[in-house]
Amino acid sequence: MNRIFSGVQPTGNLHLGNYLGAIRNWVRLQDQFDCIFCIVDLHAITVWQEPAELRKSTREVAAAYMAAGIDGRKHIIFNQSQVPGHSQLAWIFNCVARLGWLNRMTQFKEKSGNARENASAGLYVYPNLMAADILLYKATHVPVGEDQKQHVELARDIAQKFNNDFGVQLFPLPEPMIQGPATRVMSLRDGTKKMSKSDPSDMSRINMTDDAELVAQKIRKAKTDPHPLPGPEALGANGQVKDELFAARPEAFNLLGIYAALSDRPLASVLAEFEGKAFSAFKQALTDLAVATLGRIGAEMKRLLAEPSEIDAVLRQGAERARALSAPILKEVEDVVGFLRP
Ligand code: ATP
Ligand code: MG
Repeated sequence: MNRIFSGVQPTGNLHLGNYLGAIRNWVRLQDQFDCIFCIVDLHAITVWQEPAELRKSTREVAAAYMAAGIDGRKHIIFNQSQVPGHSQLAWIFNCVARLGWLNRMTQFKEKSGNARENASAGLYVYPNLMAADILLYKATHVPVGEDQKQHVELARDIAQKFNNDFGVQLFPLPEPMIQGPATRVMSLRDGTKKMSKSDPSDMSRINMTDDAELVAQKIRKAKTDPHPLPGPEALGANGQVKDELFAARPEAFNLLGIYAALSDRPLASVLAEFEGKAFSAFKQALTDLAVATLGRIGAEMKRLLAEPSEIDAVLRQGAERARALSAPILKEVEDVVGFLRP
């Protein structure tokens, strides 16, 4: 059976990158797969979270899933801390994963920056917890943005080492699914940095709940360059922007990529439409498109959050189903490891 697991951290404002790189793809996959969509609050606390904010953000992420069109009755939506198996399996994986593997993880390097000695131990073993999230349900596919590819590959390594060490075929090797035209949406202020919830500048991202005026302002102020917009000759034979052109104009290609993704059109056709035009005209079209797409979802999020009983009911039921699904798998793992059940 093919099963999907994926998640978002309740670390603040959900943005266009989370939507285009992850959540929108999940909505499209839910007819073909049995899906588990998690709000990964255990991951969130690897960096400091105000407790009241964490509770609020947890409901916000759930609201985003539901508002974007994920069916919480058919599929499982829950917050990670409510299923103890995540922490239990993560501990076992702390003992399977090698330090050398974790030392190669780029997210830890980016998030700890120059203050590595001060980073939490949790931030360092974050990928082991992520492997536990996926494998606690024997999930086979993990739809994520490009930035999480390395972590899903580590989960495969952990699954494989566990199976080899214990001589079993217990875990499947999960496949990353990095899909769609916007697998890496970049910051509006710096085209070489990914759009992130944790970027201190709110102008760097379009949040899913931003109103029309704010979206317009952020796009108007988005960094560009003084040249007219490029045309389809910017694309190589593989349909991707040629590397040297992309490197020279990262902000321009980011905005064009966002336009293509939001309008569900090939980048070539968007380039043909705006070739030679000024950014001002393009930015107006992009604003209209972003407001039309996100406005509907943001309004539905606000409706759900105004009286969160519907969200809480979905989360409660989801956690119950996730506990039931994971309990026998965790038992199987514990038996293989040799934990006595007296
Ligand atoms: P944080 O800054 O707290 O890490 P984040 O914006 O990176 O927040 P996550 O909760 O870490 O968001 O990631 C949730 C999902 O969104 C993952 O699948 C991730 O790959 C995807 N994602 C995050 N940022 C982007 C982006 N800029 N473009 C495309 N996908 C993204
Ligand atoms: Mg992230």
